[in-house]
Amino acid sequence: MYGLGLLKGLLVTMKNLRRQPFTIQYPEERVSQHPRFRGEEFAWYEERCTGCASCAKYCPLGIIRIVTDPSGSAPQEGDKYKLEVFDIDIGRCMFCGLCVEACPYDALFMGSGFERGRYQRKDLVINIEELRQAEKRPSAWFRPQLEKESYNPHEGKPRSWREAGREDWRWHEGEKAGARFPRPGNGEKESR
Ligand code: SF4
Ligand code: SF4
Repeated sequence: MYGLGLLKGLLVTMKNLRRQPFTIQYPEERVSQHPRFRGEEFAWYEERCTGCASCAKYCPLGIIRIVTDPSGSAPQEGDKYKLEVFDIDIGRCMFCGLCVEACPYDALFMGSGFERGRYQRKDLVINIEELRQAEKRPSAWFRPQLEKESYNPHEGKPRSWREAGREDWRWHEGEKAGARFPRPGNGEKESR
């Protein structure tokens, strides 16, 4: 019938007339992010990083560059490497988080920021100094212990590595000092 399409169109308009808009006026307003949001700045805990470069090897885009130097103080004891370069080219990063999953030492976390517009691509490379100085607001993604505490990186305080790691930091310190701790399923008694 002539005009039916017009009527249907008007009905759709009427239905949506009273709905609140879901767009916001950025940058005056910002959408609140989920605690598990994988953001741009990365939270890197240098004290925990051994320079093993697992993160760089697992990055599917090869955008993490690490240069290390043996510290020379106690290589036989598995002493950590001295980090000279730690660059992440976030201009190419897809925020998959594989580097974070690959880190065996809880030294690297996804960040929580999302505002890093730059005029030059080279300014999108996060270098070691920036990683050192960045506020440590780790994303709760892949970190169930942070989720369990309902930590919200967008609101909560920055976290030290002692508060952010999956393992109790005393566990690491004790093990370094030679204590033996029970592993799941081996029936050993805890010695701390
Ligand atoms: S988040 Fe993914 S793409 Fe980005 S640096 Fe890590 S592994 Fe590479
Ligand atoms: S951040 Fe983790 S995976 Fe990357 S070099 Fe440091 S300890 Fe190794």
